[in-house]
Amino acid sequence: MKSYAMANKVIVAIDGPSGAGKSTLSKLLAKQLGYINIDTGAMYRSVAWVAKQRSIALDDHPHLGAMAADLDISFASIDGLEHVFVDGVDVSEQIRTPEISLLTAQVAACPEVRQALVELQRKLGADGGVVLEGRDIGTVVFPQAQVKFFLSASASERGKRRYEELIARGIDADLKQTIAEVEERDAADRAREHSPLLKADDAIAIDSTSMSISEVLNQMAAIIKEYEVA
Ligand code: C5P
Repeated sequence: MKSYAMANKVIVAIDGPSGAGKSTLSKLLAKQLGYINIDTGAMYRSVAWVAKQRSIALDDHPHLGAMAADLDISFASIDGLEHVFVDGVDVSEQIRTPEISLLTAQVAACPEVRQALVELQRKLGADGGVVLEGRDIGTVVFPQAQVKFFLSASASERGKRRYEELIARGIDADLKQTIAEVEERDAADRAREHSPLLKADDAIAIDSTSMSISEVLNQMAAIIKEYEVA
């Protein structure tokens, strides 16, 4: 068996509905493995935020797509927290509001926007040593990813997690409404025509409803290690 020092840096795809734990786990995994973490949801959120700022109609697909292709979206870790920048502006907080979450699901249905962001995601992940989290990573962005996970949890548990996240960030939220919004967004993500939320046939399914973060993390890390030495 190869030693860990000789491990291949692989592409890890994590897909699943909102609130399943993808963001938390992909950040922890990337840190533990020395990989780059790519939050593709933040990219779609950034496009929705700019569309709102510029009052671009969400059904004006050519305009939305051209705008998405032209944006400079980047990530940086500041004091251990991941920040998202759009054309140099730190939008990390603004893109997480419930309003932007719902707008994002609409923007993400636009094929021109998806094409622009998928191109960027493929560039960022091409060299391996990356964890990408989203909805279509294992099916569309990197169907050749060596390790694919499909992370899920019950709707009420996912809504509760999202609610706790919002409260922790100081954003006013209502539990029932947050569960309803999470369900609404997932239904839209699953039903859309282009790149719907779907488990890739070869993805490993993990239901995190009654698992702790460290249990899921250990399970995922052990699987990735097997592929790194394969
Ligand atoms: O993961 P997050 O909740 O931040 O994603 C926000 C929205 O972005 C999702 O509800 C979905 O509509 C969209 N998205 C997507 N494809 C991805 C990542 C996110 O359509 N790869």
